[in-house]
Amino acid sequence: MQNQINLKYHLKIFNIFDLFKTSPMQKLISFLLISVFLFSINVYESNAQNTSGLSINHQKIESHKTSIATNYASSITTTDLEKHLYILASDEFEGRKTGEAGQKKAAKYLVDYYKSINVSATNEMNYLQNIPSNYFKGRSKNDSENVLAFIKGSEKPDEIIVISAHYDHVGTKDGEIYNGADDDGSGTVAVLEIAQAFKIAKDRGNGPKRSILFLNLTGEEIGLMGAKYYAENPVFPLENTVANLNIDMIGRVDEKYTDNPNYIYLIGADKLSKELHQISENVNATYTNLELDYTYNDESDPNRYYYRSDHYHFAKNNIPVIFYFNGVHEDYHQPTDTPDKINYKLLAKRAQLVFYTAWELANRPERIKVDGKKN
Ligand SMILES: [Zn+2]
Repeated sequence: MQNQINLKYHLKIFNIFDLFKTSPMQKLISFLLISVFLFSINVYESNAQNTSGLSINHQKIESHKTSIATNYASSITTTDLEKHLYILASDEFEGRKTGEAGQKKAAKYLVDYYKSINVSATNEMNYLQNIPSNYFKGRSKNDSENVLAFIKGSEKPDEIIVISAHYDHVGTKDGEIYNGADDDGSGTVAVLEIAQAFKIAKDRGNGPKRSILFLNLTGEEIGLMGAKYYAENPVFPLENTVANLNIDMIGRVDEKYTDNPNYIYLIGADKLSKELHQISENVNATYTNLELDYTYNDESDPNRYYYRSDHYHFAKNNIPVIFYFNGVHEDYHQPTDTPDKINYKLLAKRAQLVFYTAWELANRPERIKVDGKKN
């Protein structure tokens, strides 16, 4: 606040009544100056409205644009999610442990799926990014693989949006299979469905303007190793990577929301780009209307989830991220994390939120700005 002496001084020089004590010529000049001043305020205000469209909470996206995205989001269905998850989280996949037979089987399932919907591999490799066993420093005795699928952007193909989820889990212990339906079968099948939605859009002439990389990561459960490897060996330059939307556990409901499950925890959205946070809010207000809970986004939250899933390896490279998460539950990292306990309707809605957010990031005229600080 200004102090009193200064306030009086300003009032004195801008006293409008002084104008009427002056000559006609001086009055005219003053009138013109005031007009120019008022006009410039007007211009400033209308500009502010245009450029700050995103700074207003819960502003909705124009309806002529929304109907197109909604068409494709509707291809993300509970039936498809359920079908994929009952396979990937079945005993046949033996808990998908990094480097083991079950993980390889899951990788094959993902590759076969991308082939079946004609979503291509990135140029240099046949869907698989091989990670040599020595990279895992004893945590996996075999090589393992990230699975990458790609839809090239129609206008800005060099700018990449990464949608990721880890498909590995913790394997078998004492003869019990840890199926990992929620962790992170739910994220994995969401990525498959989101890829299909973008592919349908592309086939109908509405492909994304920026490119989308569907990144199914291995090695998460042994220390975010697949994401770390990708960040150290990126297929597309990290400086061209616009954002990472990472999904890890979105099929269940935690204790806090037992009676009102229409929610999702978001972590990281505002840390590197305020614009990303605002887009995410606007998209949700327009399409999905989930309660976006930022409890775990708090820097002082003891769980430190921001550092605990794959997106962190993007964030530490100054790439804005959003981590989508349902919170923990009694079956977390237990053999009881099975596909029959998934809320498929909620899973579909949350996957659609990720799809819509990616759609907006891929199609908006300007790439989102990074304005937060590095970790
Ligand atoms: Zn886990």
